[in-house]
Amino acid sequence: MCGIIAYTGNQNAAPILTASLRQLEYRGYDSSGIALVSRGKLKTYRAAGKLAQLENRLPNKISGKIGIGHTRWATHGEPNDQNAHPHTDTQGRISIIHNGIIENATELKRKLEAQGCVYTSETDSETIAHLISHSIISNPKMAFLDVVRLALKQLQGTYGLVVMNADAPETLIAARSGSPVIIGIGKDEMFVASDSAALSRYTREVVHLDDGEIASINAKGFEVTTLDAISMSKQSVMVDSSQLNYELGNYDNYMFKEIHEQPESIRRTLSGRLDHRFNTAHLGGLNMSPRDLMNVRRVCILGCGSAYYAGISGADMIETLARLPSKAEPAAEFRYRNPVIEPDTLYIVVSQSGETFDTLAALREIKRKGSHVLGVNNVVGSTIAREVDGGIYMHAGTEVSVASTKAYTSMLTCFALLALHLGRVRDLSPQQGEQLVNALEALPEKIKVALEQNQQIKQLAKKYHHINSAFFIGRTNAYPIALEGAQKLKEISYIHAEAYPASELKHGPLALISPQTPTIIILPDNDLLGKSISSLQEIRARKGPVIALTNAQNEDIHSLADDVMYTPNTHPILHPIIMGIPLQLFAYHCAIAMDRDIDQPRNLAKSVTVE
Ligand code: GLU
Repeated sequence: MCGIIAYTGNQNAAPILTASLRQLEYRGYDSSGIALVSRGKLKTYRAAGKLAQLENRLPNKISGKIGIGHTRWATHGEPNDQNAHPHTDTQGRISIIHNGIIENATELKRKLEAQGCVYTSETDSETIAHLISHSIISNPKMAFLDVVRLALKQLQGTYGLVVMNADAPETLIAARSGSPVIIGIGKDEMFVASDSAALSRYTREVVHLDDGEIASINAKGFEVTTLDAISMSKQSVMVDSSQLNYELGNYDNYMFKEIHEQPESIRRTLSGRLDHRFNTAHLGGLNMSPRDLMNVRRVCILGCGSAYYAGISGADMIETLARLPSKAEPAAEFRYRNPVIEPDTLYIVVSQSGETFDTLAALREIKRKGSHVLGVNNVVGSTIAREVDGGIYMHAGTEVSVASTKAYTSMLTCFALLALHLGRVRDLSPQQGEQLVNALEALPEKIKVALEQNQQIKQLAKKYHHINSAFFIGRTNAYPIALEGAQKLKEISYIHAEAYPASELKHGPLALISPQTPTIIILPDNDLLGKSISSLQEIRARKGPVIALTNAQNEDIHSLADDVMYTPNTHPILHPIIMGIPLQLFAYHCAIAMDRDIDQPRNLAKSVTVE
């Protein structure tokens, strides 16, 4: 989602800004822009659409050694040229880029317009430029940093922002309240970004701003204070270089690359964590003793989108192995329904980026009420990773495609490890533990086998990609597989898809079954197989086409379904990991057949840092 980059130093800023914006493209955006101070004047270039539109608009030579750049994901005002960032004040001296939402923008706009400010966009963000400009006029003697502080104190909502002032053209001011901001340290040059990916070509040394902090940055250094002018001492950290050098290689797009990386990403998630001696999992980062774990009475997992679906599978794994009542809930719903926070409930927040706004807000709500929270995250040093009491890093490696694949299966693998660990602390026997340790160890090779069906699934997608709608159904632990399968299809092919527990079909959606609406039924080889085959029969009786996804060798499935996708058998706890793979490939090939933008589907963003 929305990207920020800023530069101050001795080089020409424009090429640095555009190259960095390219690195942020994967997050999803709808328009982009840059602004520079050149010979004392502010120059702004903006364009709706992809970065190429902006680059086409840039003159051959643009000078300016300080500049800001932005990829926008519209929240207020449609994605057009005028609404693209940077935004300026009426005098054209202040320029800002902003990620987030200013909730009192309308109220502030009314006041600022009454005082003569002229708005040129429909965004909430433009208010920030006018507010700062107005503070300068009202406080002519005040230092620029103090003026910005004064302005920011009037904002309600969330922001990660950078301010540039044509009258102070060596200094950038960056501030954070709810949306990530990092400072990149170079030699005689400094950067600001929303994500370390933007800085990959320039520096690995970064400083993370925390909420309520504001930084004044010039080519030689930076100073961080709070909005109340309290000085903060900040430590820089080195970004893991594997996070920075992630190239497409021979693949056509990141999604296909990431689908095929899963044997390796899962191997990394498991690395060093399987304990054959005690038939359990080593999870040192939990910061909880066996006694702490024994005292847990309930587990509550929170996430958004695919992370929420991974949480549903995770809750099932934990309840099955540790016999602890467990549930998952969408993080944004949880935080707003004033939930009862219990001291003996273990809360787990799941987010690939570790920056998902709603998940972060849920984490803060729980911590405010005094409970212990664990994180399952991919990005080391992300905001969620820094604020939780402990957790499990996924180590899936960088995920660029908006539609999550390898991060999703690594989340599930983390949950399988946690369920094993919790189970072994409680009453899972060493023999049961051993079975799961062995199954986890064999998992990467089995994922490889599941991926070998790529060509068959491509043919299947050729047959089905013209459909307008599809159902995905499954029972108990196959239901979240159905949810995620439907999600993938929706996200990248834009085909309408709905997931249901298979048992719910006859309570409503069966009315929609017809020869035009196929159902993908997920049939793991377990005690419920016979009952799920009855659901398959019900669909057939209404002439609905059926694609079965199974790891069972079962004649009925073979003869009843129109098409069958197979996966290798494994420990039942791990079914959701392997059985998700063909559904990723199915969504992918449908989207390719429909000529969709695979890595950046319309309207979506990678790391959702707004509410
Ligand atoms: N709310 C702002 C807008 O709609 C910022 C969006 C973003 O974070 O990209 O322009």
